[in-house]
Amino acid sequence: MWSEFTEQKRTASFLHQSLQYNRLSHAYLFAGPKGAGKKKMALHFAKAIFCVRQDGDSCGTCKSCRLIEEGNHLDIHRIAVEKNVISIEDVQTLQKKLSYRAAESSHKVYIMEESEKMSREAANSLLKFLEEPPRGVVAILLTSQIHSLLPTILSRCQIVQFQAPSPEQIASQLEAVGMKAGLARTAAAITNDFEQAHALCETESFAQLRSLMIQLSEDIWERGTYALVTLHDKLLKQEKTVERIDLFLDLLLLWFRDILLCLLGQESQVMNIDQVEPLQKQALRISQRRLATGMKIILETKNRLAHYANLQLSLEDMVLRLQEG
Ligand SMILES: [Zn+2]
Repeated sequence: MWSEFTEQKRTASFLHQSLQYNRLSHAYLFAGPKGAGKKKMALHFAKAIFCVRQDGDSCGTCKSCRLIEEGNHLDIHRIAVEKNVISIEDVQTLQKKLSYRAAESSHKVYIMEESEKMSREAANSLLKFLEEPPRGVVAILLTSQIHSLLPTILSRCQIVQFQAPSPEQIASQLEAVGMKAGLARTAAAITNDFEQAHALCETESFAQLRSLMIQLSEDIWERGTYALVTLHDKLLKQEKTVERIDLFLDLLLLWFRDILLCLLGQESQVMNIDQVEPLQKQALRISQRRLATGMKIILETKNRLAHYANLQLSLEDMVLRLQEG
């Protein structure tokens, strides 16, 4: 149902209406960042075109909807990038398939992912096709890099702009590809970008850096000056962690935010979702005011380091000030 697309309401409602009022274009370009749900929306749009309901939405259960879901609908063609390019052969094969009469209905739909990866010849070949579209054929091109497409292609398509995905949306997509929930949510909150968050989750050091941050935070609240030992031995002596100190501070900032959410009884909203217990434990020891001051101190430290302040002195100072509260 279109109503399920809560993150892209305006786009969903636009596509829904174009079907409801019979204003189907022959070519759409879905443009927006990776992770915004373009592919999912394209499939839903295709379902709505073929669904027995014929009221602009899809039921999800009729034969057409099921065939599309399974990737077996004969009138839907999907072109995905292979070896990082969409070649002229790919486009010609598609055109040949589309020249046959529709097998199941009066429409044929093709969905081209990462359409910016068409070679120049492929794009020119597709262009001719977009200029004289065969009856009943609907093109849905997807791209996260609209500026890499030929202007002539853009001018032949109805451009449908997607909003940047929310951290929650990015996190659930990362989880769908097998990333652990706690890391996925943390990475999504820090980068707000699907690709970057995905890359973070895949580096082993990200999980280590987060564990180290959690330990330092515990030591700050509970172990007095021992926190400085942790800072020296675990963080400053390791070349790998020193290189990623800015990320470390981002993680610490997010951790403080999560403690605050626990203090407010909003545990369901924390990003370090797999660490609710330690978060709650730390929340018992710190006041709201102290957390707010703490976040300010972390931000100041980030700022000082961005201006080439001494790393060791800045971090020691941060730890001591956090303890003073
Ligand atoms: Zn249906």
